[in-house]
Amino acid sequence: MVRGISSRRRTHGSRAAKHARLKGTGMATKEFEGKTALVTGGSRGIGRATCVRLAQEGARVAINYVGREDAAQETRRLVEAEGAAAMTVQADVSDPAQVEAMVQSVEADLGPVDLLVANAGIADAVPHTKLTYDIWKRTMAVNVDGVFLSVMAVKDGMLERGYGRIVCIASIAGLFGRPMMIDYAVSKAAVVGIVRNFSGALAPAVRINAVAPGLTDTDMVAGSDPVWRQSVIDNTPMQRMGTADEIAQMILFQLSDRSSFSTGQTMVASGGRITLP
Ligand code: NAP
Repeated sequence: MVRGISSRRRTHGSRAAKHARLKGTGMATKEFEGKTALVTGGSRGIGRATCVRLAQEGARVAINYVGREDAAQETRRLVEAEGAAAMTVQADVSDPAQVEAMVQSVEADLGPVDLLVANAGIADAVPHTKLTYDIWKRTMAVNVDGVFLSVMAVKDGMLERGYGRIVCIASIAGLFGRPMMIDYAVSKAAVVGIVRNFSGALAPAVRINAVAPGLTDTDMVAGSDPVWRQSVIDNTPMQRMGTADEIAQMILFQLSDRSSFSTGQTMVASGGRITLP
């Protein structure tokens, strides 16, 4: 462990020197060269786009999924096509033992986790008349416990090594409320609370922020009511859904040193949408 830490520091030092040399020549280095990233829910949607962007910036990428191994393998193929090391790791983020095992296998195969994107989430549009305690508990288990457990599993290692970047995926539903998806909106408000409260405890070595997307064109919304979807777009100043890659770019900004004075914050990417029909 100690040997691993010191060799990492040497790598950082030589990278800084290389960066300084390249700066003089006008050549750019990749932002996350030598870093290991874990993306929960990396098999599809926003998670997949984030894995690809991380690979383009030189990170080794661990792609978590729960059931869709085929989708995780496709993300892996896309990551490897960028020349990056990749692995897939099956785990239900709502289960503490599975999250621990996930982080252990990532560390064994790709090295200690430097970058965590706690992205895995579920959403069903359930009005209050159909909301049950079982639905509520499952939403909280994946969207809140899943983020909490993922952060808990990596934070101590990050603090020991003196470096860590965490981005958790919230939603504008968690900021403004959504009467037709009470369980989901409350779970995302909790994610905003997780980053706000962990930030002071983990600073300055570890920064933790959230990205709160508006309606984004992924499988999560593909099955939603088209009339509702159109009404959301009509209420969005940009008059469209976001793309997974647009959200991934926000996530990479929060992971990068370009946001070096930001921690505990929730950054919105919603095409300007603030009303929630
Ligand atoms: P998506 O396309 O439905 O993908 C969901 C991902 O989460 C999949 O990779 C899925 O794995 C994984 N997942 C689900 N439950 C899991 C569990 N228990 N353990 C581990 N992984 C699990 O969703 P998305 O739209 O990309 O959403 C990503 C995040 O953005 C979510 O937190 C979501 O709430 C948030 N968000 C989305 C929107 C939107 O409009 N799309 C807006 C605001 C916020 P499998 O492939 O194995 O099923």
